[in-house]
Amino acid sequence: MPKTRVLGIAYENVTLAEAVRDVLALAQADGTAYVVTPNPEISEACVENERLARAVAGADYVLPDGIGVIMAAKIGGTPLKERVGGFDLATALLPELERRGLRLFLLGAKPGVAEKAAENIHARFPALCITGTHDGYFRDDAQAVAAVNAAGADVVFVALGFPRQEIFMQDNREALQAHILLGLGGGLDVFAG
Ligand code: UDP
Repeated sequence: MPKTRVLGIAYENVTLAEAVRDVLALAQADGTAYVVTPNPEISEACVENERLARAVAGADYVLPDGIGVIMAAKIGGTPLKERVGGFDLATALLPELERRGLRLFLLGAKPGVAEKAAENIHARFPALCITGTHDGYFRDDAQAVAAVNAAGADVVFVALGFPRQEIFMQDNREALQAHILLGLGGGLDVFAG
């Protein structure tokens, strides 16, 4: 699919509904893909943080989170269809994961938050299988990866804040057995309420 370059980052030009469709296809495909949703703050950070820039450039699917990216695209003459944030995408995915029997793991935020988020998600989508949770304050990536793999999941919501989550997803995509990793910023705090 052709990408649209804005402020140095190549984005998918899709609506939220199209992003859900594409991510579900990736969740059912072989391999592990990761999704990032840069906003202008992340674009700016990429200029100074080469490691973050590589992690964003290495993502399989890049969506514009923030009206600033949409405005810059319009001004640059390459408009994007709409803003699609990580949290919006995650929210729209939940009923579809439930319907298709795709399993979800929640990784990130302070201890207790992912569990609370899982409880709230379960209350709304009782047939959705949440295989496990893990807080985002681990020192050793391998330990978090082992927890995710042991639980077994198709989709992992990775809510470590930026730039940690983007770098984590790039570093660990090979080791993780899930098919989709979705960077969610502080999204688990929101699901936890
Ligand atoms: N977070 C985490 N591990 C870390 C740093 C942050 O799990 O090492 C979580 C934090 O608890 C919060 C989310 O990442 O749920 C976003 O963190 P923060 O507010 O620092 O970042 P921002 O919202 O600016 O991306």
